[in-house]
Amino acid sequence: MKEYDYIVIGGGSGGIASANRAGMHGAKVLLIEGNKIGGTCVNVGCVPKKVMWQASSMLEMIERDAPSYGVQAEVGKFDFKELVARREKYIDFLHGAYYRGLDSNNVERIEGYATFVSDHVIAVNGEKYRAANILIATGGRPSQMKIPGGEFAIDSNGFFELTEQPKDIVVLGAGYIAAELSGVLQGMGTQVHWAFRHSRPLRTFDTMLADNLVDIYRENGMKLYDHHRAKEIKQTEDGRYTVHFENGNTLSGEYVLFAGGRIPNTDKLGLENTSVTLNEKGFVIVDKFQNTTSEGVYAVGDVIGKIDLTPVAIAAGRRLSERVFNGKSEEFLDYENVPTVIFTHPTMATIGLSEAAAIERHGKNQIKIYHSRFTPMYFALGEYRQKCDMKLVCLGEEEKIIGLHAIGVGVDEMLQGFAVAIKMGATKKDFDDTVAIHPTGSEEFVTMR
Ligand code: FAD
Ligand code: NDP
Repeated sequence: MKEYDYIVIGGGSGGIASANRAGMHGAKVLLIEGNKIGGTCVNVGCVPKKVMWQASSMLEMIERDAPSYGVQAEVGKFDFKELVARREKYIDFLHGAYYRGLDSNNVERIEGYATFVSDHVIAVNGEKYRAANILIATGGRPSQMKIPGGEFAIDSNGFFELTEQPKDIVVLGAGYIAAELSGVLQGMGTQVHWAFRHSRPLRTFDTMLADNLVDIYRENGMKLYDHHRAKEIKQTEDGRYTVHFENGNTLSGEYVLFAGGRIPNTDKLGLENTSVTLNEKGFVIVDKFQNTTSEGVYAVGDVIGKIDLTPVAIAAGRRLSERVFNGKSEEFLDYENVPTVIFTHPTMATIGLSEAAAIERHGKNQIKIYHSRFTPMYFALGEYRQKCDMKLVCLGEEEKIIGLHAIGVGVDEMLQGFAVAIKMGATKKDFDDTVAIHPTGSEEFVTMR
């Protein structure tokens, strides 16, 4: 049986990062990937999503915003098929870049689905491999709609398979993906009907974000439906789909897209042959060092169900390899204050606690909120005056910033720098002491009163 220092199962964001880092430190590494190298992010996640977001933003700029600057531009033709073909070509290029990176770190690769035979023995393509250290980085997949006709709904993977732009679509779900893909399609000219179960989408975030997003999406022609719980999807004779809701309403579209969270890829891994423990939802239980309950078996990324973001999977994977293969015995990823952007139209940026979560954790009299609402200069010349909303959540007398939230044009590119300051423990006074950059949107964060 072939022996390695480190076997990594899953060639996505976390697995690749950890394998490369271990290889850099001289470990003998085997990476096993059952599908396309790069995993969710590269093939059916961040990368194709951002390409589509960019195309959609471009169309919005030309059609909605350019005339206010005297630019009477027209979109002669928007070729969805060509966009998809170019996007996939770019993704192919990324595959090559990942292979080259792995080769340069001497990471061996096998294409195939791995299963555990025992805690330290893996089977793939009928062969067995042993390693003292094994990483589970198998990620997750979209959850399916469990209602009659649920199989008619496409998921985010199905969205990226589309080569024709839908004329209209019903989007079900209330998280990142529903919010982003609704915005992408509406910006491209598809009539989007976005239905969610509660009073607002994105309920885990500061309410300022969703409340503004809903208004802005409506102003831009999207149809939004709160308190809509789907009970059945039916295909009609013309090949379209109708969603029937518990409240009696129906919505129909060329497609139905369901984005209601993801489930971990742990069900076919043979984990019953190991002492790795899963939680009730099937995610791998790990401690702060990414150790599972089986010694020498680790897990990072979406498969642990903590924070499903590419940079989180990468950071955890790299730190793990630093700890195991480079003697940094105290290295681990701190999951607090992870910044994140939702690529809606406009984008939303957020780090730390929402106002409600901060009050719940620290009490109302410990929390001070600073809020700014303004029209970005980008919209100053036109009749369409989309607002930008920003909020700082501050704790105690020293006004330590424990939450920063924003929705508006360009906030996606503002967050990273502020995240550094917040991670370092910045206070409102530190922000006030920083001279503004004018004229920008981000200056509002250092001039709030
Ligand atoms: P994955 O990237 O899912 O990789 C797991 C890999 O393991 C897969 O390639 C799979 O084929 C493989 N695998 C599974 N089982 C086996 C097995 N038994 N044997 C061998 N291989 C196996 N995050 C961001 O930070 N920013 C974004 O903008 C963003 N946009 C997203 C948009 C969408 C539509 C989606 C779905 C996700 C998005 N994410 C984004 C989340 C991000 O893609 C994930 O958090 C990230 O890919 C997780 O990395 P991972 O390594 O844990 O898993
Ligand atoms: P999310 O976890 O973000 O949101 C799913 C939401 O959909 C739930 O919170 C729930 O909200 C709603 N929902 C769940 N089940 C149903 C149902 N049966 N019918 C209707 N609505 C339902 O999941 P996503 O799938 O959107 O995204 C998965 C993860 O991928 C994200 O959490 C994020 O970590 C990552 N991601 C990151 C991106 C980025 O960084 N920009 C972009 C895309 C994904 P409610 O209870 O309110 O109904």
